[in-house]
Amino acid sequence: MKPPPFQYHDPRTIAEAVGLLGTLENAKLLAGGQSLMPMLNMRFVLPDHVIDLNRVEGLSYIKETGGVLEIGAMTRQYEVEFSEIVRTRCPLLHQAILQVGHRQTRNRGTVGGSLCHLDPAAELVSVAAALDATIVVTNASGRREIKFADFPVAYMTPAIEQNEILTAVRFPLWKAGHGAAFVEFARRHGDFAIVSAAALLERDGGGIIARASITIGGIGSAPVRVKELEEAIVGKTASAELFRTACESCRKLDAIEDIHAPASYRQHLAAVLSRRALEQASGIAPQSATSVH
Ligand SMILES: Cc1cc2nc3c(=O)[nH]c(=O)nc-3n(C[C@H](O)[C@H](O)[C@H](O)COP(=O)(O)OP(=O)(O)OC[C@H]3O[C@@H](n4cnc5c(N)ncnc54)[C@H](O)[C@@H]3O)c2cc1C
Repeated sequence: MKPPPFQYHDPRTIAEAVGLLGTLENAKLLAGGQSLMPMLNMRFVLPDHVIDLNRVEGLSYIKETGGVLEIGAMTRQYEVEFSEIVRTRCPLLHQAILQVGHRQTRNRGTVGGSLCHLDPAAELVSVAAALDATIVVTNASGRREIKFADFPVAYMTPAIEQNEILTAVRFPLWKAGHGAAFVEFARRHGDFAIVSAAALLERDGGGIIARASITIGGIGSAPVRVKELEEAIVGKTASAELFRTACESCRKLDAIEDIHAPASYRQHLAAVLSRRALEQASGIAPQSATSVH
């Protein structure tokens, strides 16, 4: 199918793009187009105006400042994949991005586009939840910051106003040497995961878990931080037995049901994948480079 007719706009600056958003009725932003174009072609969205962000300056960068990794909204997913800063300083993001779609989709797809599309199983969305990211948006009055916990307001609906553009995301970095693992179950390579698990672990000098973050993606309308599980393992020594027991709490998470899997299967995957992610993050099991099919 072809998209419905719309007027195309090609701004060069953030101010120009924000100005267009503020004045045009029924406008949509175009980033990498990997989700928007299919939605246009299937007539799920019918905008009168499409504002292309691809030539807007200053939206594509990866930088680390003061223990925070900041990524511009139009940074392509492949740039994150091949970034040395990301690989060394934010291993969770590096592992996650390798599981986003295909090489071809990562060449065009952007970080900001994935966060705004807000698919509940999107890897970047889970990483943002796991790292307590901050979303930076720009509107005609300037910038505002949104804690990631407040970003998803409903299924695939971010807390961004119609006149705002997501301009950057900030990931607070964990201490050097922390453990990280992102594992997922998808039916075919490159598909969205049915369920995913992201784990981050910091241990003290005696090997005791000092800090933990566990996020399950694909189970609800947005990724879920499993606080009960995090609290159950902090202060303990990492072991297969500890993780097996503690991860059982994931079977109690509220889970969605759809044509891909019933809720009970998602709960089962959450328990299994969180255990695997923790085993990999702690070094009990070797890191798996790709998703499980
Ligand atoms: C075959 C295939 C497989 C895929 N598999 C996966 C997968 O496994 N995991 C995964 O996470 N994704 C997957 N995707 C989706 C892909 O990651 C997309 O890149 C992503 O969802 C959207 O990013 P985009 O830059 O293409 O955004 P677009 O498609 O251009 O935009 C998506 C939405 O976000 C809005 N938007 C974009 N940028 C901004 C901004 N800066 N500010 C405000 N709103 C904005 C747009 O208006 C639109 O509503 C897949 C896509 C395809 C085609």
